[in-house]
Amino acid sequence: MPASHFSPVTPEIIDQLKAIAGAEAVSAAQADRDLHARDQSQHAPHLPEVVVWPSTAQQVADILRLANDCRLPVTPWGVGSGLEGNAIPVCGGILVSFERMNQIVAVHADDFQVTVQPGIGHKDLNAQLARYGLFFPPDPGANATVGGMLANNAAGIRTVKYGASKDNVLKMQVALADGRLITVGSRSVKQASGYDLLHLFVGSEGTLGLITEATLKLVPVPQYMSAALAAFESVEAAVETVVAVRGSGLDPAALELIDAAHARMLREAEGVDLTDHPTLFMEFHAAHEDSLQMGLDMVREICHELGAIRFRATTDPVERKKLWHARHSSYEIMVRSHPDKHFFINDVAVPISAYPQLIGYVQQLKREHGITAYMVGHAGDGNVHVEFPYADEAEYQQRLEINGLIVKKALELGGTATGEHGVGIGKAKYMAAEHGPALDVMRAIKQALDPNGILNPGKLFPEAVG
Ligand SMILES: Cc1cc2nc3c(=O)[nH]c(=O)nc-3n(C[C@H](O)[C@H](O)[C@H](O)COP(=O)(O)OP(=O)(O)OC[C@H]3O[C@@H](n4cnc5c(N)ncnc54)[C@H](O)[C@@H]3O)c2cc1C
Repeated sequence: MPASHFSPVTPEIIDQLKAIAGAEAVSAAQADRDLHARDQSQHAPHLPEVVVWPSTAQQVADILRLANDCRLPVTPWGVGSGLEGNAIPVCGGILVSFERMNQIVAVHADDFQVTVQPGIGHKDLNAQLARYGLFFPPDPGANATVGGMLANNAAGIRTVKYGASKDNVLKMQVALADGRLITVGSRSVKQASGYDLLHLFVGSEGTLGLITEATLKLVPVPQYMSAALAAFESVEAAVETVVAVRGSGLDPAALELIDAAHARMLREAEGVDLTDHPTLFMEFHAAHEDSLQMGLDMVREICHELGAIRFRATTDPVERKKLWHARHSSYEIMVRSHPDKHFFINDVAVPISAYPQLIGYVQQLKREHGITAYMVGHAGDGNVHVEFPYADEAEYQQRLEINGLIVKKALELGGTATGEHGVGIGKAKYMAAEHGPALDVMRAIKQALDPNGILNPGKLFPEAVG
């Protein structure tokens, strides 16, 4: 949808937005527009014409009704931690920030559920849930909002045990493009009533509706937790171990791979006791101390059998938190250690049995093209992030081509172009190859729910991105 398809945001529109959300909740100031022009990706920034901070679902619905009537683009915004340009308002228009809708609505502790507004950060949510002994498990590193996580179907390090965002939501309230507020799903864990609209909106990246409330599944905070590190001579040996650990029935709560360069950077920046080798970061949860210890013994044995040169395990909560803090910071640390480079990050995922083949292919491409690229992965889910540094446009284009080859390989192996970051801008070009005729069904759904194309235009569909 070209920007010219839309009307400009006029002073009259700004007055109407103020009438809906309150004068202090609407800003066309340059500083506010600047703050909402880019996410954490390499994609070019674009200014919204106006930023609105609604505080109720009804205000969100009223904003959409106005935008639909006046043909104004609307881009929802969590905290802009996305890595694929998903929240960049590429057609200008109205940016709806959920910053003020950040409250817990109700804790249903006996049902292991919580109902929240979409702007709450998942870390803030878990801090508040700690007193109930419960937590919401999907954990992307950043303090992403629940709305942004559901819209991107974010996953992260605990997905291998607890699933992605889509597996941890039961019910949502959604504001549609025409200003209707609907409820999808229910608080029942079992649901077999009609089309699964809940999961239609999950992962739709704000292109079908704006999430105004969500009821999430929670799990009890595990009684016993351990972290383990296993270093290997080669990435290939580490990856074979991932498949073996998954096959052992050990049920890790996290099973992450970092390459030798990341291990070095984490040691230097965070003081983590790592050597310059590809390393697996693992976490195990148990209800009993003995079963935790038995699991650790088993995983140690598997790692050594498959060539681990070093294995360390800890149940000390301080050390465990330090390790995961380092793992979560790995991207920022890498970016910081290359002040003269830009980065973009790939996000393919394959069935676990094909993971060694995928990683072998990435290694082969690096050798063949003589390029530097780093690698971290939610290996237990068959998900890898290849991180490409580049200095100029020519290098960027070359890395993009290599990235395209990795995506092609992932699709050949039965996988996906994006395991968790979403399609946004950068992955739109792979949608036809991945989905074939199903992409036309997605277009029909978009047309039915948003006939004027006002919701997060310029994303997801190849023709929208151009
Ligand atoms: C250092 C770092 C590490 C990361 N690690 C991971 C990881 O391990 N796993 C992972 O999955 N992601 C990861 N991410 C990416 C990012 O955190 C996720 O994509 C997250 O879901 C974005 O949430 P947000 O609140 O920042 O949303 P935004 O980036 O603001 O928005 C994301 C998308 O959601 C839409 N949106 C926002 N709110 C709503 C709403 N209420 N209704 C409808 N649509 C909405 C936006 O329009 C956009 O399309 C990482 C990012 C960084 C910077």
